[in-house]
Amino acid sequence: MASQPATLLIVDDEPQVRKLLETLLQHEGYQTLCAGSGEEALQLVAQQPPDLILLDIMMPGMDGYEVASQLKGDETTAGIPIIMLSALSEPSARVSGLETGAEEFISKPVERVELWLRVRNLLRLKARGDRVNPSRELTRQQTGMNVHDLAHQDLEEALRLAVEREEFTVHYQPKVEVANGRLCALEALLRWERPDYGAVSPGVFVPVLESIGLIVPVGRWVIDTVCQQIAEWQRGAIGAVEVSVNVSGHQLIEGDLIADIARLLAQHGVAPHWLEVELTEGSLMENTQHTIDSLQRLHAMGVKISIDDFGTGYSSLAYLRRFPIDTLKIDIAFIREVTSNPQDAAITRTIIELAHSLSLRVVAEGVETQAQLAFLKDAGCDQIQGYLFSRPLPVETLERLLLERLDRP
Ligand code: C2E
Ligand code: MG
Ligand code: MG
Repeated sequence: MASQPATLLIVDDEPQVRKLLETLLQHEGYQTLCAGSGEEALQLVAQQPPDLILLDIMMPGMDGYEVASQLKGDETTAGIPIIMLSALSEPSARVSGLETGAEEFISKPVERVELWLRVRNLLRLKARGDRVNPSRELTRQQTGMNVHDLAHQDLEEALRLAVEREEFTVHYQPKVEVANGRLCALEALLRWERPDYGAVSPGVFVPVLESIGLIVPVGRWVIDTVCQQIAEWQRGAIGAVEVSVNVSGHQLIEGDLIADIARLLAQHGVAPHWLEVELTEGSLMENTQHTIDSLQRLHAMGVKISIDDFGTGYSSLAYLRRFPIDTLKIDIAFIREVTSNPQDAAITRTIIELAHSLSLRVVAEGVETQAQLAFLKDAGCDQIQGYLFSRPLPVETLERLLLERLDRP
């Protein structure tokens, strides 16, 4: 990120709120400007465009919706990201805010870490020149529609065949205990070798499986494969190993994930605590009550629950506390520059502290260098995962590692 600190404009009619936000943001090294009304905000933006705006919705005179639509309607100011602030946490307030073109929404009272994550993520998107404006993104997609559609259709067709022909495999990436450097658990990652194409990333094909309703059977197959694998290790020299599987929100909503897991664990004779499910923040945001109920049943069963890619999603921290979580996985985006970017370093430390204050285990993913590991060790991170220790491996290669582990004192 640029060495020049970003300038953030705080717009709120309440002086105490302005003061609080100012203190929090200055503490994180940002420069701040303040406006007490919508009118004043527009004037300030015209004089000195900020890098980001925190905008209260409810203000006497010109309200936040009006300010946002004026700024987003003007070519010269449309690119400035806006975070809407509101005491109303109803989805309708959020939707209205986003409809005016605001990129984010935070409910009051504002939580420090949440504010910090939102600001950092938006500034980073802006710095990368990503299209933060969804309407412009749509136009771009529309122009390329035909080619995109054809490629997508082709991929869908290939994936339907892949399911029929059982072309998927599972690779496993080790997780390492920071305190002693030992392999302590694994993450199962889906792999697909597309005939005549080569390996396709799950980042590409999982969303397509979700869109055509096939993630439920494929996800069930992953859990089956993993349970069978744990059972096999359990019977042999390696012994049982804790494995986490990635679970899509669709599996929680469309399928009967809980019944599937209970059945597969019983069928293979695997104790629930060997299994962990990894869910992203985004998937928790959908169908909340049903999701909370499902996760509570899983938790009661003894299966562990992990929040994947933590820090980049849209859920509030207060909201996350409603879920029975065991583990937080810090997103790779924070780890990448943790040794060179002071913001990322500070936020990583804060996430680790926060997790520990909630008695959660913290895993850092994407650890590639000794320097990153040293940082995470110092910050008190519990486990790491990344190329530094090992890439995701096919079972045969992994088993050699697991056996070596037993030879070590
Ligand atoms: P994820 O669960 O966050 O998985 C971590 C990703 O980071 C994996 O990518 C892994 O190969 C990669 N990675 C691990 N260490 C490093 C590192 O040191 N550096 C870098 N640059 N990358 C590292 P992969 O395997 O391509 O998976 C991408 C995503 O696809 C996963 O992200 C997960 O969201 C999804 N996915 C994978 N398998 C499944 C599955 O069985 N079911 C579902 N629903 N989603 C899956
Ligand atoms: Mg994962
Ligand atoms: Mg992840």
